[in-house]
Amino acid sequence: MTTFVDRVELHVAAGSGGHGCASVHREKFKPLGGPDGGNGGRGGDVILVVDQAVTTLLDYHHSPHRKATNGKPGAGDARSGGDGSDLVLKVPDGTVVMTKDGELIADLVGHGTTYVAAQGGRGGLGNQALASVRRKAPGFALFGEPGKDQQIVLELKTVADVALVGYPSAGKSSLISVLSAAKPKIADYPFTTLIPNLGVVTAGSTVYTIADVPGLIPGASQGKGLGLEFLRHVERCSVLVHVLDTATLESERDPLTDLDMIETELTEYGGLEGRPRLIVLNKVDIPDGQDLADIIRPDLEARGYQVLEVSAVSRLGLKELSFALAKIVSDARAAKPKEESTRIIIRPKAVDDTGFTVVPEEGFFRILGEKPERWVGQTDFSNDEAVGYLADRLNRLGVESGLVKAGAKEGDEVVIGNGEDAVVFDWEPTMAAGAEMLGRRGEDHRFEAPRPATTRRRERPEEEQDDAQSEYDGFKPLG
Ligand code: GDP
Ligand code: MG
Repeated sequence: MTTFVDRVELHVAAGSGGHGCASVHREKFKPLGGPDGGNGGRGGDVILVVDQAVTTLLDYHHSPHRKATNGKPGAGDARSGGDGSDLVLKVPDGTVVMTKDGELIADLVGHGTTYVAAQGGRGGLGNQALASVRRKAPGFALFGEPGKDQQIVLELKTVADVALVGYPSAGKSSLISVLSAAKPKIADYPFTTLIPNLGVVTAGSTVYTIADVPGLIPGASQGKGLGLEFLRHVERCSVLVHVLDTATLESERDPLTDLDMIETELTEYGGLEGRPRLIVLNKVDIPDGQDLADIIRPDLEARGYQVLEVSAVSRLGLKELSFALAKIVSDARAAKPKEESTRIIIRPKAVDDTGFTVVPEEGFFRILGEKPERWVGQTDFSNDEAVGYLADRLNRLGVESGLVKAGAKEGDEVVIGNGEDAVVFDWEPTMAAGAEMLGRRGEDHRFEAPRPATTRRRERPEEEQDDAQSEYDGFKPLG
C-alpha cells in the first residue's frame, strides 16, 4: 500500500491571560489620583497551520506536549501587560484533527488553512478599566483567564512522495528498507514497521516518504492483478522511480524491455505523463549486473532519463539516490501553488455565552454558563469589592431572577460552575419578587455602606472560616 496513516496524540495548552492590576495613581500633592492599574495581556493561542513543506507528523511523535506563553500582568501607571505569543504548529496538508474519542474536529486541507486548537485566556481588567461612574475607585482588578487546553489526535492519510515501480523482485522493497532504516531518526517512526512497503527518508533537511508499488505486471492498467489499485495511489506522488533489475535470470527479460513494459502500463493508465522520473539500476553488486548497467546506461540517458546505479545489498549509490530524490521532491513541493487566497480559519466551536442555566440539584442550585463560570474565574475572592463586582455582573445577567424562577429561596446554597473550580454561595435575594424582578435594579447601595462580603471556594477550606457579613447583591457567605 502506498497510503498510510500517521497518527499522533497531542496535548495543546494555550497561554493564560495576565492578571489585571489594582493600583492608585500617585503624584506629588495628589495622594489619591484615581485608579491606574493596567490590564493583563492575552494568553497566546495554539494554532495549527497547514504547511506544504511539512509532510509527516514526526515532530509531534517526539514532543507531544505544546504550550503557548502566558500574557503578562498589568502594572501601575496604566501599563498593560504584554500579550503571550501564539504557538504556531505546522502540520501537513490533509491533517485531520479529532478528539481522543475519534470525533472529527477539523479537516485541514490547503496551504495556510488554520485551526485554533487552544484559545488563549483573556487578560484581566485593571482597576482603571473597571472604573465607572458608579465605581469611581475600584480597589480590585480581575484575574486573567486560564488558557484553554485540550487533548487532540492528529491523523494524516497521505500518499508517498516517491513511488517505486518495477517488475516483481527488481528490489523495490529492499531499497525502501535500506534507504529508510539507514536513518536513526526513523527508527521510532511507527509506520516503517507496520507497513514494510513504506519508508520515511531523511536526506539533508528534506524528509519524504517512499513507497513500493507492487504488482505492476503486464495488463495491470486493465485491472490485472492488484496493479490498478496501486496505480491509483501513484497518481499523487511527486516522482516515479523505475527500479530495473540488472541481474534478472529470466532469459526473455532485460532492463530496457522491463522499462518499456512498465511505461506502457503507466501510459495506458494515463495522467502520469508529466510526472518526473528517475531510473535506478539495481543489483550492480553482481558483476554481470554492473556489466549490463554499463551497456544500457548510455541508451537510457539518450532517452532523457537521470540514471543512478545502486545496490540494495552492498548499499552502493544509496546516498546519491536519497539526495537525488530529495531534490526532486523538494522542487515539486516548491512548485506547488500556494493557495493563500483560499485559506480557511477554523475556530473552536463558539460557546454559547448568551446566558446561563439554573439546575436544581439535591440541596442546592447549580448555575452553569460560559459567562458566570468565566466571571467566577476572574474573581479575587480575598477582595470584597471584587466579590461585589461579581455579584453585580451575575445579577445584570439575570441570575437572581433565574434563581427565583427555579424556586430558590433565601438562604439556599447556590453553586456556580462544575468540578473543582465551583464556587459556593449562600443566596439572599435583594429584589422583591414581582415587577422589579424584570426591571432595572435600584441604586448600588454598596457605595453608601460598603461592608465585606465573603464566599468560599470548595478547594479553599481556609476561607470557610471567614464568616463576616455580606450584603452584596444577595450573595451571602455560608455560615
Ligand atoms: P521487489 O519485489 O521489487 O520488492 O523486490 P525485493 O526487494 O523483494 O527483492 C527481490 C530479491 O532481490 C530479494 O531476494 C532481494 O534480496 C534481492 N535483491 C534486492 N536488491 C538486491 C541487490 O541490490 N543486489 C542483490 N544481489 N540482490 C538484491
Ligand atoms: Mg516488494
